[in-house]
Amino acid sequence: MHKQDFPLLTNTPTVYLDSAASAQKPQSVLAAMDTFYRTYYANVHRGQCHIAAQATDLYERARRTIAAFIHAEPDTVVFTKSTTESINLVAAGYERLLRAGDEVLVCIAEHHANFVPWQQACLRSDATFKTFGITSDGTIDMADFNAQLSPRTKIVAVAQLGNVLGVANPVREIVAAAHAVGARVLVDGAQSCAHMPVNVKDLDCDFFAFSGHKLYGPTGIGVLYGKAEALSELPPYQFGGDMIRHVSVAETTFAEVPAKFEAGTPPFVEAVGLAAAVDYVQDIGMETIAEHEQNLTSLLCQGLSDIPGLTMLGDGSLKKGIVTFNVAGIHPADIAFALTQDNICVRVGHHCAMPVHARFHQDVSLRVSFGLYNEPADVATFLTSLHKTISLFGG
Ligand code: PLP
Repeated sequence: MHKQDFPLLTNTPTVYLDSAASAQKPQSVLAAMDTFYRTYYANVHRGQCHIAAQATDLYERARRTIAAFIHAEPDTVVFTKSTTESINLVAAGYERLLRAGDEVLVCIAEHHANFVPWQQACLRSDATFKTFGITSDGTIDMADFNAQLSPRTKIVAVAQLGNVLGVANPVREIVAAAHAVGARVLVDGAQSCAHMPVNVKDLDCDFFAFSGHKLYGPTGIGVLYGKAEALSELPPYQFGGDMIRHVSVAETTFAEVPAKFEAGTPPFVEAVGLAAAVDYVQDIGMETIAEHEQNLTSLLCQGLSDIPGLTMLGDGSLKKGIVTFNVAGIHPADIAFALTQDNICVRVGHHCAMPVHARFHQDVSLRVSFGLYNEPADVATFLTSLHKTISLFGG
């Protein structure tokens, strides 16, 4: 679907099955950034000249586009450099807000970006870091979650869609339970925002983080949404230009959100590139993308089901665009190397999620992940190459 819009995929024979790591870029994103650099480039928020005013206008327009995409108000959307930075911003704030006896509750299946910052914030604040588990099909163990949740819980961190298991988590239910004990919830949307419609109002989450590069946008741009009151209780993350109201030798007062969290020159060309990516996926429709990727996922899981010795992490029927597995007796890196000979890109490793691999008694795995540009022919090419590889290894 729409492969022709992606120069890398039309200029090279690449079969790209690694979109969960980073997605390819459509022509419209490349053009938006190229036009910006060639026509309006000047630093935002500071200059008086006409191009600085145009650049600022485009940057703030990008904020409105991206806010509307997740159903948020523009002044609750902070630009960062990535999901990782968005989560670190919140965790660093909580490091100052948490007290001994407070608890932070994180799903065991989280990417390290939504795991380690919380673990470290707890270490530094004397709060307690706790995890809740998942069942063997890859869904959240809600009984465990509810058992761990208590009035001591100050924040819950969970992904909307896991980057290893590819299963959508019951975020609304988790948020409702967390709010009932007075805890806030941070949702990691790094994977979900490219694969399904996102509505932060409907989820009622307190924070939502995602990266531009997984959503067909550029690298170097991330988003942190926060409810106005949740963002305003956090201290600034970095200090410098643009985030102040007044500075004197005696003291500094800070600007309102979102400027309070956007110290220094922001990634404004990247923000405009991300807005172009959002326009692009919205023109196709997130529901259409979700349905297309679901069909590819079912096709792949069906093709993998008769391979002897194949162990999938989680239940294939629950997966959305991300399928992770191992084949007994063959290291996944050997499989990936063989697939590369057929120009097929997949990912091998722990996918920055060691705890969930430990949960499934695996060190590493091979991950196939789809983007909107993948086609059933890509699945067929992958399966043919995988079968060839397994037979080469004597399987
Ligand atoms: N969270 C999830 C679920 C991810 O899949 C990733 C990246 O793979 C991240 C967070 C980190 O994203 P980034 O490296 O763009 O900060």
